[in-house]
Amino acid sequence: MVKADVGIDIDVRRCIGSGQCVLIAPDIFTQSPVEGTVRLLIGPPLPRHRLRTVEEAVAQCPVGALNTWLKTDRDGSEQS
Ligand code: SF4
Repeated sequence: MVKADVGIDIDVRRCIGSGQCVLIAPDIFTQSPVEGTVRLLIGPPLPRHRLRTVEEAVAQCPVGALNTWLKTDRDGSEQS
């Protein structure tokens, strides 16, 4: 059986604090009360069962500040 970790990279310098990611997954993303930029509430790794939700947040980010990756324990390869 292949297990996979779901990771996420955040480029805070790109984030404009629009909040789409927080609206889509408020249990995963939040915003800094000072700068308004995105912060993670959990992980990485993120729960595997939330991959689709996280991918939706990535897709809706207007500035491309989010990127997911998978790492499997079979061969250690990473995929975006
Ligand atoms: S959707 Fe993108 S720009 Fe908006 S808060 Fe989230 S990471 Fe920042």
